[in-house]
Amino acid sequence: MPKAVCPVCEMDIRLRGSACLTGSRLRCPECDQLLEVTSERPLELEEALEESAVHDDELL
Ligand SMILES: [Zn+2]
Repeated sequence: MPKAVCPVCEMDIRLRGSACLTGSRLRCPECDQLLEVTSERPLELEEALEESAVHDDELL
């Protein structure tokens, strides 16, 4: 399973196959930062801007 490092807290994050494509977004399980995949090889994550903070609660 591919792994990437959170740019905020430096935690190793495991990504499922469909989540490691460029442009995919996920939330760091450690610091709850919204992240976006910016590169697949090597796998790199970057902080993503919150576009709809109001709806984020629905994901929990
Ligand atoms: Zn993090």
